[in-house]
Amino acid sequence: MTDSPSQFRWPQGRQSALSITFDLDAESVVLAVDAGYASRPSVMTHQRYGPLTGLPRLLDLLAERDLRCTFFVPGFTADQHPRAVEAVLLAGHEVAHHGYMHRPPAHLSESEERAEMEMGLEALDRHGVRPVGYRSPWWDISIRTLDLLAEYGFLYDASLFDRDQPYPVGTAGGTIMEIPQSWVFDDWERYAFLPDPPAGQGVIERPSQVAEAWLEEITAYHQTGGCAVIVNHPFISGRPGRAVALGTLLDRAMDIDGLWIAAMDEIAAHTARLDLPVAPLQLPGLPSD
Ligand code: ZN
Repeated sequence: MTDSPSQFRWPQGRQSALSITFDLDAESVVLAVDAGYASRPSVMTHQRYGPLTGLPRLLDLLAERDLRCTFFVPGFTADQHPRAVEAVLLAGHEVAHHGYMHRPPAHLSESEERAEMEMGLEALDRHGVRPVGYRSPWWDISIRTLDLLAEYGFLYDASLFDRDQPYPVGTAGGTIMEIPQSWVFDDWERYAFLPDPPAGQGVIERPSQVAEAWLEEITAYHQTGGCAVIVNHPFISGRPGRAVALGTLLDRAMDIDGLWIAAMDEIAAHTARLDLPVAPLQLPGLPSD
């Protein structure tokens, strides 16, 4: 089956979409590197800033604008910071799956990947959440992940990069909607800095410049009818200056005519209703000897 991008339509004649998403990684993203960091108070509090301080600020910012967003929550965060997850749910946002200890499936065995999936589901279930969406830790799925998501009844994945618009993927377990991503919109690449474990590129960008760069990208996605997905981490973008810049960016995005701002589950459900041609994920064939 050939690609038919022209079949894609946004609802109610809108021109493009924007989803504001948050990865509530907290301590998990560091502990996935080495559990020994659990006894390093400076490193742990750097991560804990997310659920403790950044999240309430960001939730206020979203409530002021009446925006519904998607929070990808590792199971370990849900277990360690139950009140943070409850606050997200109380505000009406979507809570989606982001692994258990933020371990990227591409680096796991089949049984390890299944265990991460199930432990993540169990942790969210303790909050009454049956997630329909998944974003892979470090955006690095395995060849099995999409099959596994379909098997567990997920509606969408947000871990691939090959298009500007969502599309259905055929898997061994059924069809999954893919909402493609871009590193351009990840706050980690703009702001993150940790000396140990080493994180970030060593350049901490100015918040107003990040907001400006993202607005340029959103405007370009709008012109091409795409789906822009901004990825913020509360321990990164919940800092005061960055939160202010994010608020300014959202105000400007909300002024764009025909831009649909929606949570990921709404975008996935819309894509599923379009009845687009379904094809399996294409990977390169390697030359044989
Ligand atoms: Zn993450």
